[in-house]
Amino acid sequence: MADTEKKPKFKKRRSSRKPTDQIQIATERIDILFEQAEAAFHSGHSLSDRYVEIARKISMKYNVPISQKYKKRFCKHCKKYLVYGANARVRLDSKGKCILITCENCGKKMRYGYNKLTTAKE
Ligand SMILES: [Zn+2]
Repeated sequence: MADTEKKPKFKKRRSSRKPTDQIQIATERIDILFEQAEAAFHSGHSLSDRYVEIARKISMKYNVPISQKYKKRFCKHCKKYLVYGANARVRLDSKGKCILITCENCGKKMRYGYNKLTTAKE
């Protein structure tokens, strides 16, 4: 038998879930930031993009998902805030059974299946 003790390659990491009150604050802040981003869009594009950036950082830091209704409001690729009709195009793809959202900043497309669609007026 080998005298060397079998050591685990990686240290077991404890789950880094933040306290519930911090998670609650984080979700509130994300909601507020997206509301602010919508308001700021009419005054200037750059500020709303910054709000999205902060909201994403909060969601990653506190491990809080961005809610479904806000997930489609920014570009997956360039992370810019999207306003349908202004800097984003929304089309239905009957062949692929999905919603195509085209970002007009970077020109890339995002697809969402029909079934995943939450009600538009939330
Ligand atoms: Zn984009």
